[in-house]
Amino acid sequence: MRIDDRSLARQIRSVEIGLAEAIAEIPVEQDSSAIWDDAVVNLRANNEAWLAENLIEWMSEYYRHDYVYVLDRHNLPMRGASSGEKVEANSFEVFRRAIQPLVLQLRADMASVSGDREDSTSAITGLGIADFVTLPEQSVAAVSIRPVVPSSGALKQVPGEEYLHVSIKTIAEAFTRPIAARFSLRELQFVTAVPNSDRAWVAVRDRSYSLIGYMTWSPDRPASALVLDLLPAAGLSFAVGVTGLVLLLRRLRRTSAKLEVSEAQAQYLAFHDPLCGIPNRALFEDRLDQALAMMRRTKGKVALHFLDLDGFKHLNDTLGHAAGDELLCQVSKRLRIVIRETDTVARLGGDEFAIIQVDVAEQLGAERLAERIIASISEPFHLSGEEVRVGVSIGIVLTSEPDCAAADLRRKADIALYQAKANGRGRLQVFVGDMDDAVRQKQALERDLRLALREERGLRLDYQPIFSRPSSEVCGAEALLRWSHSELGQLRPDEFISLAEERGLIDQLGLWVLNSACRYAAKSSIPWVAVNVSPLQFRDDCFADRVLEILALTGLAPDRLEIEITEGLLLQNSPVVQATLTKLRVAGIRVALDDFGTGYSSISYLRTYGVDKLKIDRSFVEQLGQGQDIDSIVRSIIELARAMRMRVTAEGVETDLQRSILDDLGCDQLQGFLLARPISGDELERLLARTRTPALSAVG
Ligand code: C2E
Ligand code: CA
Ligand code: CA
Repeated sequence: MRIDDRSLARQIRSVEIGLAEAIAEIPVEQDSSAIWDDAVVNLRANNEAWLAENLIEWMSEYYRHDYVYVLDRHNLPMRGASSGEKVEANSFEVFRRAIQPLVLQLRADMASVSGDREDSTSAITGLGIADFVTLPEQSVAAVSIRPVVPSSGALKQVPGEEYLHVSIKTIAEAFTRPIAARFSLRELQFVTAVPNSDRAWVAVRDRSYSLIGYMTWSPDRPASALVLDLLPAAGLSFAVGVTGLVLLLRRLRRTSAKLEVSEAQAQYLAFHDPLCGIPNRALFEDRLDQALAMMRRTKGKVALHFLDLDGFKHLNDTLGHAAGDELLCQVSKRLRIVIRETDTVARLGGDEFAIIQVDVAEQLGAERLAERIIASISEPFHLSGEEVRVGVSIGIVLTSEPDCAAADLRRKADIALYQAKANGRGRLQVFVGDMDDAVRQKQALERDLRLALREERGLRLDYQPIFSRPSSEVCGAEALLRWSHSELGQLRPDEFISLAEERGLIDQLGLWVLNSACRYAAKSSIPWVAVNVSPLQFRDDCFADRVLEILALTGLAPDRLEIEITEGLLLQNSPVVQATLTKLRVAGIRVALDDFGTGYSSISYLRTYGVDKLKIDRSFVEQLGQGQDIDSIVRSIIELARAMRMRVTAEGVETDLQRSILDDLGCDQLQGFLLARPISGDELERLLARTRTPALSAVG
């Protein structure tokens, strides 16, 4: 079911964030001792006792870094520790092969920023490198290397003579446990073999996108979990009458029973695209590995085709999502007809498809298939009585290399596709060696985002109106971030927020959003504005102060700002988060829980934290009116919210039917394409002028 798919997507994102954070944490811990005059002085003097107590053995014991080494300027190990005990320095040689490329890269980075300075300190402070590596005997580790640098101007550091601090954390239970606990993931483990089909997983890749292994866990089905979780919450002393409670509980139990999907169905869902019924990304990856294994035995070539529909987004926007969905299904049918039985066609997401073509004799064979696909897709489609045309761009990569990695092939097909699109639509492009690689693309995107932030160029906010019920007036608006990239065009937040999170730009980006939204709202007649805040922004324990500063600076009253957070944040159960939320709410800012129902759906934390509003996720709203189960879950959420004195917004309202059901259920506020799409600030002003009496009301 879709809700569980959406939830799986969110679990995957949690694991990705957890991984990124776990590795990002190591350098911070290293710097607690490695940026320090004393560390430099004592290394130079090779003061054993001091180093043991303050830098090496200490760090391995205190932060539980499995191995800690210091390398001298020739990259030779001077000292090492494991579990707080000294180990022979030359035990580093075991790790050398895996780690040396990182060491050399870091040295090169340091040399390039220090130039011909006399003192490298200021240039290299903050530099470092971290990555996942495979160590001998199949063990895998997160490694971080930082130069040891002076902390004051009193000491000089000659460029090229720096010591390097190396921390190695193997990815074992101690590494995964905190991630599992933080995001409530069951049986989270790291494995190197493809996980079983009943497990959810995320591929762990290194900086060059090579596959290192998988984080895998037992997936949660929150639609059912939600129901179970409502039980204890409902038992708490809310203002629900006893009879009401009993009825609510009964209905919830009934709903939960119906929501159980059979094992076989779950299995099918895990490997097939719910929309088109063809293999999904998970099965695709599996088949690709199989194809490569087979190729090693039979000596034929394997071709990987990545397909992307041209003009799909436009079509989706103009004809509606239902038509878009129908088109995707028709496309997948045509693809299945064109390929041979031994080939695989999969939907990777959105309008992206992939084809694994096995047993290819030469490049021409792959090109012929791609041409047939282009011809087939260019034939008109018939969607709800209308004739529609779309095109397709195809990137191809071919291999006969026995030790070709699947990840490498995917990366190259991606680059070829990107190139095909850039060359004009409706084309095929075969990957050739000197194409820019995906890593560089990602780095370029990061660089452009930094630049966009610094120069305040290309970033803007659109606002999606939110309507109160039953009056149907615009009662507020949600700010949604937009980035028009000079080459890539309009990027959706989903395409760059996670990059910003991964690369440490989210704080800056988030403050920019808050600032712009508050500035806009202060001079607008909109009653209030809602701003999405990433969980990572809450790591800054000054976050609440910064928000209050922005309000003071822009002159926006606190009760005209709403902050949208996600359930995962509350689950962290962190005192910092709790303090921040309390501070915001005491100041009068409202807190809304976004995407409610798809996360971990634990109701008990709602009481601990207290939030002002629930936003029922689009995936529930989407299925309203299609069966009793969803309708009654939504009803329960609304009842629960009312009992806890929270407001409820339904997101993603697209049809009149959904709207009228929500009306009947007494939902407080509605948001969705049916009522209004996200629009510019100016358009919102015009809309307000048309539809509202000028009186301001700031009721959430
Ligand atoms: P969200 O918070 O769930 O925001 C609602 C998303 O659903 C928006 O997509 C909106 O355009 C879309 N939407 C609204 N009504 C409908 C509807 O009726 N049907 C359909 N199919 N979609 C609808 P958008 O703008 O692409 O944003 C995607 C996500 O990106 C947001 O999801 C939010 O999580 C994140 N995001 C957006 N702006 C920011 C930001 O400034 N900061 C952070 N941290 N995240 C942001
Ligand atoms: Ca939101
Ligand atoms: Ca949402």
